[in-house]
This record gives sequence, structure tokens and C-alpha cells, in this order.
Amino acid sequence: MRSFTKRQAAEFYRRLAATRPIPRTELEFINPFTLLVAVVLSAQATDVGVNRATPALFAIADTPAKMLALGEERLAAMIRTIGLYRTKARNVVALSQMLIEQHGGTVPRDREALEKLPGVGRKTANVVLNVAFGEPTIAVDTHIFRVGNRTGLAPGKTPLEVEAGLERVTPAEYKLGAHHWLILHGRYVCTARKPDCPVCVVADLCRYGAKTAPAELIAARAATPAPLAEPKIGRPRPSRPPAQRARRR
Ligand code: SF4
Repeated sequence: MRSFTKRQAAEFYRRLAATRPIPRTELEFINPFTLLVAVVLSAQATDVGVNRATPALFAIADTPAKMLALGEERLAAMIRTIGLYRTKARNVVALSQMLIEQHGGTVPRDREALEKLPGVGRKTANVVLNVAFGEPTIAVDTHIFRVGNRTGLAPGKTPLEVEAGLERVTPAEYKLGAHHWLILHGRYVCTARKPDCPVCVVADLCRYGAKTAPAELIAARAATPAPLAEPKIGRPRPSRPPAQRARRR
């Protein structure tokens, strides 16, 4: 697979940036602590599922001290719609305790310190450094791992290899937003099952050898009338009022 030249990589990001001029996380949060908690809760879960549970939680526990006061049992009950909620509740309470004891109740702007917190790995630390503190880190999740490999932008056998490749190939001016541009591209266009190649803005730069043909995409959509939705892991969405339903038909 041919490597991206500097010029091609810049063009790749320029186009992704044009489709989403203001890159931002889809997780809801109100301060660095709630961002950290939301990212911990999002492991092996969808952002949408996490966002269903966190507004009520953050309304009563938006600091480590309040989270400790809430306690593991009540926290678990509030996040029970999220996968692995018992382990995550234990980790969130433990990391709150550690933030109070070792960091004065604040989230440290330091990778090593972040990675020592329970439930926090390199990916979570990268997201917090990027979103909360404006550091040009690139967190590699399942979407970015796929996009990096498929497109040839940053091939690698492990997330760390892909991260190192993205660090090398991403122009400095795009590093701050790279994580969001790549993740959103993987989530909504370069999807795992059937990438939307016919409408992809970087199709001519992408090295993927099995791009979806237009006819193939039409057939796949016909066979799957319902849009690909996030897994149903939360409580059902409230149904829309009849007037709103009628408008959408
Ligand atoms: S052309 Fe297809 S495989 Fe390549 S980045 Fe776009 S959607 Fe993904």
C-alpha cells in the first residue's frame, strides 16, 4: 500500500475539516471531570447511550467529592443502561477518590497521572487531554483504527502503531481536530459493515481495495430498510408526538 505524501495527507484532512468545520466530541459533559467520567463510561458503549444516562448523573455529581458522596451503589443504579456498568461504577468512584487524594479534586493535565486512574487507559487520557485541555493528541478507538488502516493514512497492527502513524502523517494545523474528524468519518461514512464510498469526500485519496460500489450500496440499503442505528442498550426513546411524526413522512 502506497504511503500518503504530506500533500495528500493535508488534502485528506482539509476535506474532512470542510465537512465538519467545528469538530467536537458527541459526548455530553460540563467540565473536565464530567468529560473524564463520560469517556470512562463510553468504553464498549455508544456515545448516545452514555448521553442518555449522564445528564441526570451530572446534575447531582459533577465533581469528585459529589461522586464520592453519591457512592458506588447509587451510581451503578443511575448508569445501569450502559454496558459493564458495575465495573464502571467502581472505577468512577475509585478515580474520584484518587483525584481528591492526589490531585486536589481536579483532573490532571498529565498523561502519566491520568493513566494511573482506575478505568483510564491511553485512549481515554488522549481524549481528555485533547478535549479538556486542547492538547493535539489523537486517541485511537475502533473507528479510527479502521479508518487509519483502510485508507492507508496510518496503517498499523495495534492502536498504538496507528496512533504513531497518525502523529507522523497529520499536519500540525489539523492535529487538534484530527481525532474528531477521523472518528466521525468512521462512525458515519467509513462504517465497519458497508462503507459509504460513493459519497465519501476522500474516496480518490483512499487506498482501500474493496470500496463499496454505488450499485452495491443501493442493494445493501434496499436489503436493510432501517438505517444502521446504535445498539439498543438504553431505555426506549419517547415516541414523537403524532404531528411531528406526520411531518417526517
Ligand atoms: S472511500 Fe470508502 S473505504 Fe475509503 S475512506 Fe471513504 S468510505 Fe472509507
